Amino acid sequence: MSPANENRPVDAPEPLDSTSQATNPAATPVSDRRPGANDAGMPVPASPPSAPGNPGASAGSILDAILTAKSELFRGSREVLRDSYVPSRLPHREQQIRQVAEILAPALKGELPSNLLIYGKIGTGKTAVVAQVRQDIQRRTDLASHITFITLNCGNIDTPYSLLQTIGNSFAKNEADRIPTGWSLDRVQSGMRRLMDAKGGIQVLVLDEVDRLVARSGDNVLYTLSQINTELETARLALVGVSNDLKFTNHLDARVRSRLNEEKILFPPYDATQLQDILRDRAHEAFRDGVVDPGVVERCAAYAALENGDARRALALLRLSAEMAERDHAKRITPDHVVKAKNRLEQDIIIDCCRTLPPHCKVLLYAILQSFERRRNGVLTGEVYDSYRRLAERLGLQPLHARSISNYVSELESLGLIRATIVSRGRGGRTREIIVDVPISETMPALEEDPLIAPVGRPKPRGQMLLTNFDNPARTDTF
Ligand code: ADP
Ligand code: MG
Repeated sequence: MSPANENRPVDAPEPLDSTSQATNPAATPVSDRRPGANDAGMPVPASPPSAPGNPGASAGSILDAILTAKSELFRGSREVLRDSYVPSRLPHREQQIRQVAEILAPALKGELPSNLLIYGKIGTGKTAVVAQVRQDIQRRTDLASHITFITLNCGNIDTPYSLLQTIGNSFAKNEADRIPTGWSLDRVQSGMRRLMDAKGGIQVLVLDEVDRLVARSGDNVLYTLSQINTELETARLALVGVSNDLKFTNHLDARVRSRLNEEKILFPPYDATQLQDILRDRAHEAFRDGVVDPGVVERCAAYAALENGDARRALALLRLSAEMAERDHAKRITPDHVVKAKNRLEQDIIIDCCRTLPPHCKVLLYAILQSFERRRNGVLTGEVYDSYRRLAERLGLQPLHARSISNYVSELESLGLIRATIVSRGRGGRTREIIVDVPISETMPALEEDPLIAPVGRPKPRGQMLLTNFDNPARTDTF
């Protein structure tokens, strides 16, 4: 991480930065929303039924009527199938729940828990298990009043600076208490410690997707956090790192590794039978009796088992299968709907992935898409940086340095959204040429729906493009 400079911190975030998202840790960053979909995630009908004889009906009640009229399949809220929903039972994670609870339980007796590292592939229930144990601990209000949990998804946080600022500000009682943007990194650190001490007690900091932060900006910030107890006066901090990268600790400095690794829990992938159990539970909660045909759950589970046993993928397939059935006005979800859903899913995954990028990375991706759309050809990193900087400035963000942006180019590449090849430019100069690896016709509107990007987006095509593509999973690229 770059050293701070008193007046203008390197890579400091600006007011519009990730802070607002990140200070709301409860909000799961993985957005389920798709363009052209309403709050319930369902496609908006082309011509909504009118509400005759009810001139006073509000838009809300009309929407409610549409939703209720449509839910022949759903028992109640569709939230049940969303990523942000924490189910009351987590089948096949009993052992991990017990382990996490045992490690954090000393906090209930006022003792500092060991630091914990949880690791496992994506969709293996890590976030859900931690959320459940957190809830269980917090429910013990008699014993837990001195325990504060802060859960942050590092995938959404651009820099170590914004991480520390966000941690500090999660303890701020009012505006005047908050750490403003513009302070040096040292000052942010001491501000954070002051806020932590003002709160006191045992603080459990859950750094979800911590591997992404470290890949982006190294492990200095983990070092800072892992030795912070020596500097705190009244508060004490326990760290829970959650990583989707199994080799995460290989990238850590030995001191950080030994501190973070005091306890370690591996979450293995689910097999197809376990995924079936998870899906059956959830289907039972989500759907009316008898609307899920035999073979639906099995097929969703089988597909997801092939994808590294990812429960998120399995649930997304089930949810999309239901959407496909609703589009067909079917009374039941059939295995054919699962096949359609599977085709659709890949596209959705790309869109979700774009929407959960940290703010500057999103702006960068949008700059790349814009340049690529204009040129219909590879773009060089220098040009991309210029477009990024212009966009960031128009959005009132302080642009990050070229080096950070170059790291983000690598991150976008590792996410499979772009490809970057090194090209030489005479006189020994080398740069990277970037090619977009996602369908622009879908990704650009998806980013433009994001409140961060919207102010610099093109005029809205009203999501028609996406609705049209819905039934035709074969992508129609504009390039
Ligand atoms: P990870 O954090 O490992 O990527 P999550 O905890 O986000 O995985 O799980 C992905 C999705 O699958 C979430 O919607 C979660 O509720 C669900 N899920 C994961 N494991 C289970 C389980 N054992 N039982 C029920 N739902 C689960
Ligand atoms: Mg997770």
